[in-house]
Order: sequence, then structure tokens, then C-alpha cells
Amino acid sequence: VAKGSGNGYFRYAENLDEEADEQARIGAELRVALDAGQFRMVYQPIVELPHGRIRGVEALVRWEHPTRGFVPPDQFIPAAERNGLIVELGDWILRTACEQAVAWHTELGEHAPYKMSVNVSARQLAQPGFSRVVSATLAQTGLAADRLTLEVTETAVFGGSHAVQALNELNELGVSIALDDFGTGHSSLGLLQTVPVDILKVDKSFVDNITMAGRHAVIATALIQVSTGLGLTAIAEGVETAEQAAELHRLGYRLAQGYHFGKPSATPDFGVTPIGAVGQ
Ligand code: C2E
Ligand code: CA
Ligand code: CA
Ligand code: CA
Repeated sequence: VAKGSGNGYFRYAENLDEEADEQARIGAELRVALDAGQFRMVYQPIVELPHGRIRGVEALVRWEHPTRGFVPPDQFIPAAERNGLIVELGDWILRTACEQAVAWHTELGEHAPYKMSVNVSARQLAQPGFSRVVSATLAQTGLAADRLTLEVTETAVFGGSHAVQALNELNELGVSIALDDFGTGHSSLGLLQTVPVDILKVDKSFVDNITMAGRHAVIATALIQVSTGLGLTAIAEGVETAEQAAELHRLGYRLAQGYHFGKPSATPDFGVTPIGAVGQ
């Protein structure tokens, strides 16, 4: 690995020339990785409070590099976004997640998680014809539209007219739309009036200190009120302790996700035994 600052595998370049070289290298490596089948999906449970029954899963991508080991998505999704490879990688992610959802349904019946949630990047959403890709993928894999949720960020929704048009078309298809990292972007509340959102994923930063009196608890309370008032579903992200889960439930949250309930895994446990049960 060449010199440079930063702690990631793709460290930050020190000047523009180096930056360009670095981008080219990452682009080439991601291309190889995609062709060589080095990407894997893991799935994290989304559970019902307070008992922890699994209602859905979120699909999260992993890069298993043959020599460097596991590269986390924060270190390659932004690069794939910049060089456009995210469109092809995103298609693979969507298809793989839909196939997995159908496979679990076939295998486990009603014990399979109902919803499959897939992250969509800004560039994917802005791609003309994105909703056609989604409807073709649903048709090819046999996943019912109402079992799919697409997670988009507020920033992605502001990515141009194609993005809003795509969300309207996806809504027409019967796919659910979740606003990811809700509360951390811009104009969050205004967006809710103009785009067909079904789910608010309340960012981990609001959950972190929720058991202490203060700003975080106030914001988490306001967000569940907005969500309930607008008839939306709220999901609290990054729940790490039983105390946080109990407090979220007390505030009115019905769905949560986080290490307390289950880490992302290639083979999540959908056993009927409640995991991380709260308040027993
Ligand atoms: P995100 O969509 O907000 O995903 C949630 C992240 O929080 C995941 O990190 C997950 O492993 C982590 N997480 C879940 N529960 C906890 C918890 O209790 N504590 C802590 N500390 N972390 C928790 P991950 O998998 O490393 O993904 C990071 C980001 O990379 C994602 O944030 C998303 O923006 C992006 N990403 C991941 N997979 C995909 C994908 O398939 N497509 C796209 N476009 N982006 C992806
Ligand atoms: Ca997400
Ligand atoms: Ca909808
Ligand atoms: Ca999130």
C-alpha cells in the first residue's frame, strides 16, 4: 500500500494527483472484485419491541478481499459511488438480497422475516430507469413487492428530479421506502411532505444517549411523534443495550435494530426463541 494518511485500506490522498491515482486504483480493484465474486451479503434483524421477534432484515454488503481480508462498506461504497460502479454493484446487491428473501421464505415459511430491506445509493436512485430495474428484479426473483423496502438517505432524495420520480414509481409498485439515518440530513421534515416515505430509520446518534435525560431523548421523542402523527413506521437504529430498548419502547417505538438484538450475519438466527428479550 502506498504512503498516505488515513486509517482505512483506501487511505486519503495527500494531493490531487495522488487522489486521481488512488481513484483509478480503487476503480480497477472494485471492477476485479465484482467480476471475481468477492462481495457477500450479511443480514441484520429488524425486531419488534419489546420481545425481539424478527420482522425483517437489512441487507449489508461486505467485501471479502482475497489477501487483505474483510473491507467494510464505509471504505468502498463511497469510492464505488464516485466511479459509478455502484450501479452494477447495487444491481447485484438488490438481486442477491431478493433471492435470499425468497429462499428463506421457501425454506422457513412464516418463520422467515417478512421484509427485506436494501440500501440504495444516491447514484443508483438518480439513474434513469431505476424503478424498472427494481420491478424486473422482483419479477425475476419472485419476491412480492410488499416484502421489499428500499433505504435511501435524505441526501440521495435531493439528488435530482430522477430521484423523486423514481421514488414515486417505486411507491406505485408497492415497494416501501425508508429514509435512512433520519434526522442527520437536511430539510428532513419538508421531505416528508413531498416524497412517498413509509419508514423513518431514526439514526443511532439519537439512540446512543437516550437513557440519559437530555437532547438525545428529546429528539428521539419528537421523531416518534412526527412518525406516528404522519402514519409512518419508525425504526430505531443502533440499539446496543437492553436499557436503550426499554426506553425506546417506553417512548412509543415498536421496531428496532442493533447489536443488542443481532449483529449482521450471513446466516441470522430466525429461531422462534426471542433473542435479546427485554424486560423479562
Ligand atoms: P447504514 O445503512 O446506516 O447501516 C447500519 C450500519 O450500522 C451497519 O454498518 C451496521 O452493521 C451498523 N450497526 C447496526 N447495529 C449497530 C449497533 O448496534 N452498533 C453499531 N455501532 N453499529 C451498528 P455497515 O454494515 O458497516 O454499513 C455501513 C454503511 O455502509 C451503511 O450504513 C450504509 O450506508 C452503507 N452500506 C452497507 N451496505 C450497503 C449496501 O448494500 N448498499 C449501499 N448502497 N450501501 C451500503
Ligand atoms: Ca441502512
Ligand atoms: Ca408506499
Ligand atoms: Ca442507518
